[in-house]
Amino acid sequence: MLSIDGSFGEGGGQIIRTSLALSLITGKAFRVCNVRARRDRPGLQRQHLTAVTAAAAIGGARVDGAHAGSKEFTFLPGAVTPGEYKFSIGTAGSTMLVLQAVLPPLMIADAPSLLLFEGGTHNVKAPPFEFIQKTFLPLVNRMGPNVSVELQRYGFYPPGGGRFNVYVEPSAELKRLDLLERGTILSERARALVVNLPAHVAERELAVASEQLGLMPDQLDLEQSANAISAGNVFSISIESESLTEVFTGIGERGVRAEAVAARVVHEARRYLEVGAPVGEHLADQLLIPLALARGGSYITGTPTLHTTTNIEVIKKFLPVEITTTQLTEEVWKVEVSG
Ligand code: ATP
Repeated sequence: MLSIDGSFGEGGGQIIRTSLALSLITGKAFRVCNVRARRDRPGLQRQHLTAVTAAAAIGGARVDGAHAGSKEFTFLPGAVTPGEYKFSIGTAGSTMLVLQAVLPPLMIADAPSLLLFEGGTHNVKAPPFEFIQKTFLPLVNRMGPNVSVELQRYGFYPPGGGRFNVYVEPSAELKRLDLLERGTILSERARALVVNLPAHVAERELAVASEQLGLMPDQLDLEQSANAISAGNVFSISIESESLTEVFTGIGERGVRAEAVAARVVHEARRYLEVGAPVGEHLADQLLIPLALARGGSYITGTPTLHTTTNIEVIKKFLPVEITTTQLTEEVWKVEVSG
């Protein structure tokens, strides 16, 4: 049985999700200790616990010791059974992160799956729905599977209540993926979404994008919706290049001015444009599992984050792959996966 130290590196929930996904794929059981030891509220929170139960459900696994707050548990995988599943977090915990744990085994399974998720769809420090839809999945789909998502209702902190569906047409073999050049920028757009909030919040965010990034009115989208059980605000900038679409996102929070939410996102988008690498920092850690399953691929990105370096170490525990990170210039790195 593999032994995983949950306090290693980034020391957060990603260690758990990567271990769950790769345990189901390889059939290797694992025991994890010090779960999320580097977080203020360590141990399994609802989102992580849902990831454990979701992975156990699709993979016929036996789980010992996993409950709210637990700091260690054991996961003994069975056979992955594609099909129809519903996973409900019960809080605003990120459904997109639960997807990270169950998608890898289902996208290389031998039959399609339909997954229904309930919880948060737009959370701080997690991929928002649009990142999964426009950035991550189109790249996964280039590798062979056909995964599509549909948002039914937004889910925000604190009550959650969001819903989205995922349809997975798997591909037993994944093709390698190389993202070495960004190519020409084809479009830059800013989108401000207000759900059960006044339009001026979105208008102020879009004003920041037009002032600081020079976006013209036809590059700005203001969306108003009442499709959530609470209020919520999402500001994002999408940059479409010949190689991929990157989405940078800020989630409105109580006590944080709309201008500040937008300015942070603009800063991130600007850095991405300046550095010139195709793969942004969040995509960089999330691409590693698909590339490792394909036993090959590479990408150019900025300086690897602790999420990326931690994920590399966890992946190497489960799969016989080599993953190297090479610094090319002060801010540009190449990540290569082979196996
Ligand atoms: P913890 O509470 O333990 O930190 P967590 O389970 O909430 O854990 P992390 O382990 O920190 O989360 O992992 C967060 C994941 O969300 C990473 O894969 C990261 O790349 C991704 N992520 C965070 N912010 C964004 C964003 N704005 N866009 C896309 N992906 C994001």
